[in-house]
Amino acid sequence: MILQPEFESLPRPQLQALQAERLSEVVRYAYERVPFYRERLDDLGLKPDEVSGTDDLTLVPFTRKSDLRDHYPFGMFAVPMSEVVRIHASTGTTGQPTVVGYTRHDLEIFATVCARTLAAAGAQPGMILHNAYGYGLFTGGLGFHHGGEHLGLAVLPISGGGTVRQVDLMLDFRPEVLACTPSYALTLAEELARRGVSPEDVPIRIAILGAEPWTESMRAEVDRLLGARSTNVYGLSEIVGPGVASECTEERAGSHVAEDHFLAEVVDPETGAVLPEGQAGVLVVTTLTKQALPLLRYWTGDVTSLSSEPCACGRTLVRMAPLKGRTDDMLIVRGVNVYPTQIEAVIGSFAELTPNYRLVVSRPGRLDELCVEAELSTAFLLKVVAETPGEVAKTLCEELVDANHALRSVRERLAQAIKTTVGVSVKVRLLEPGAAPRSEGGKIVRVVDERQLV
Ligand SMILES: [Zn+2]
Repeated sequence: MILQPEFESLPRPQLQALQAERLSEVVRYAYERVPFYRERLDDLGLKPDEVSGTDDLTLVPFTRKSDLRDHYPFGMFAVPMSEVVRIHASTGTTGQPTVVGYTRHDLEIFATVCARTLAAAGAQPGMILHNAYGYGLFTGGLGFHHGGEHLGLAVLPISGGGTVRQVDLMLDFRPEVLACTPSYALTLAEELARRGVSPEDVPIRIAILGAEPWTESMRAEVDRLLGARSTNVYGLSEIVGPGVASECTEERAGSHVAEDHFLAEVVDPETGAVLPEGQAGVLVVTTLTKQALPLLRYWTGDVTSLSSEPCACGRTLVRMAPLKGRTDDMLIVRGVNVYPTQIEAVIGSFAELTPNYRLVVSRPGRLDELCVEAELSTAFLLKVVAETPGEVAKTLCEELVDANHALRSVRERLAQAIKTTVGVSVKVRLLEPGAAPRSEGGKIVRVVDERQLV
């Protein structure tokens, strides 16, 4: 279902005209109301009127996360606090958190784009939404809460964590729609499987997953274990929260950007030059309609590419490819760029392994070492134990893997497959089932960097 065909299916020339009109308004608005933008443009001798079309946008410098931090907490707001009705903040894993404000109008946009996301995934009024995104400063929970209500769903604001209770209620209330992080969907699926609930008895039919990059192999796993059809949602709190872009259930091949509200560009990470469609680079977003925190050319750090190829769903909105990763998450190991999702995709191709893993980077001598901790599936380990009784103890240790041909083979093949596809030599450590970190609803930490970089 397309919630707002008047925007989502607008012929592209009309959509681009609408973007150009809104762009010139937001540049003037930001210039007049945010001292940061006034100084920036004045320094360049650029008048807001000179940015009248999307082609002129390249004249405007990027806004970075550090700019938001430098103006912590409210220095980038374009309205007085009397017009702000909500404040969210990102978890500050490095440095200060970034703070975002919303006017009543901004919250309407937020609810609308989340409602569009739910509709694009196949949700319809009358369905129950099990909303396991975290409620609080994180935008996921409240975003989908209001989006669900906007669409006419019955929203269960269960938030993250408390997996046993989540599954109790899921089996009692029988919600058709689930919204959470992909890693938490797997945690829920494991708990359902532990109770012997088969995928066809799981009520969930639609899963809207986001807030962390994920792969097609993980999607296949979630779909299989929950008996659902999952779609991706993309967003970041600085821009609005979830709903900046969302996949349609028809194609599930890239997320449609809500271009009437957010103008997307993909730029070269080194030079900042705008890249043509299809080429991967950093996603840069300009908000076209937001009041409290208008952002011009915000550098998201997320690596993707764009496509305006027609889509079976009928939306004309440009699609962004699944995230390759964030430039923030990218590891440089012995000079090779490594995205955790690349390794996740390789792990996903091994039937002997679960999708749970951890990457540990260290520097034992002068060289980086990347250790991939991959978790064996229970079924595979039981098979190995049955075939080689006495050889595999309850606790898996390196000596046992060394001694067992089947386990050694998995370890060697995984290292070889990563070397071939990612281009980096890794050490593989096999973990027993359940030993890799699990999501408790929030973002999961899969990378541990133990290098002392000075
Ligand atoms: Zn589509």
